[in-house]
Amino acid sequence: MDKPFLAKLRRIDPYVPGEQPQSDDIIKLNANENPYPPAPGVQETLRTFDASRLALYPDANGKALKNALANRFGVKPTQVFLGNGSDDVLALAFQSFFCSEQPILYPDITYSFYPVWCDLFRIPYETVPLDENFCVNVRDYDKPNGGIVLPNPNAPTGRGVSLDFLEDLLQHNADCVVIIDEAYVDFGAQSAVPLLSKYENLLIVQTMSKSRSLAGLRIGYALGSETLIATLEAVKNSYNSYTMDALALAAGEAAVKDEAYFQATCRKVIATRDRTAEELRALGFAVQPSLTNFLFVTHPAKKAPEIFEYLRQKKIFIRYFKLPRIDNYLRITIGTDEQMDRMIDALRAFL
Ligand code: PMP
Repeated sequence: MDKPFLAKLRRIDPYVPGEQPQSDDIIKLNANENPYPPAPGVQETLRTFDASRLALYPDANGKALKNALANRFGVKPTQVFLGNGSDDVLALAFQSFFCSEQPILYPDITYSFYPVWCDLFRIPYETVPLDENFCVNVRDYDKPNGGIVLPNPNAPTGRGVSLDFLEDLLQHNADCVVIIDEAYVDFGAQSAVPLLSKYENLLIVQTMSKSRSLAGLRIGYALGSETLIATLEAVKNSYNSYTMDALALAAGEAAVKDEAYFQATCRKVIATRDRTAEELRALGFAVQPSLTNFLFVTHPAKKAPEIFEYLRQKKIFIRYFKLPRIDNYLRITIGTDEQMDRMIDALRAFL
């Protein structure tokens, strides 16, 4: 071989995020972003931000944002960890907590970044099949494991589990870390936050990308016991002390402090979701019950890739995963009422 260094390079199949088209005339329903702008306080914070502050490093500990989140969730600031989007928080959590020889467990249909991190960090894993309705059976997790990661609600199915389910899971898995990925929890599911005071091995990961309309700023956080958070901090500080920039820290704080705007935005998305689900059912789609800002659907008469391509031609972008068990399903992010009307009209014309 004339380039022997090639044999030494890392080979990996990366996660592929939803496309980010640059054109303005596209209805973008493919990355579970929020169709509404962030809280007015975020705009104000960005407008009045003094650029000379950027000459200095940001607060590596993100104290003000941690205080705001601790206050919002009724925990101590030492129980809050911050990251550059929840992908960053999850990647660090995988490295921090999944260090055993035993496989970690997660559903066979779930966030497709999990296997990528397992591969990257060489973590053994086993997928646990969802049932035929895409529901999780808690008893399937009663087996020796190196840790568990479960999104609640799950993605891309949209289905959620109850607080009783989560408590059962934690009671039967006290000897490993259980990560609950609550990226979509604000759209109607039950958060595991009330269980934090009882279970030291519980880590909850949330994001400002969805319910707080801040996907572009990259803010994620974890809530957990002081022991878990201190471990995450140590691992983070072993690779990059400054994962959060000064703008994100300031704007994130403004977003958390506007509870009324947050609640109102979530209510709007939920109302549009429920109405859209009904209209899709009227067009013959089977629609999974959703507690998220997206719908997971299939049509008995038309193949998912055909519907996907048709909508794409009409400049409506949704998401299709060519993966086992779900390759005839589509994931549709909830946009504004007007965007959903245009999508429904296009589907009606197609069908
Ligand atoms: N978890 C799940 C289940 C997701 O769908 C996403 C969004 N792709 C994330 C975490 C990561 O979101 P972010 O990095 O924007 O916080």
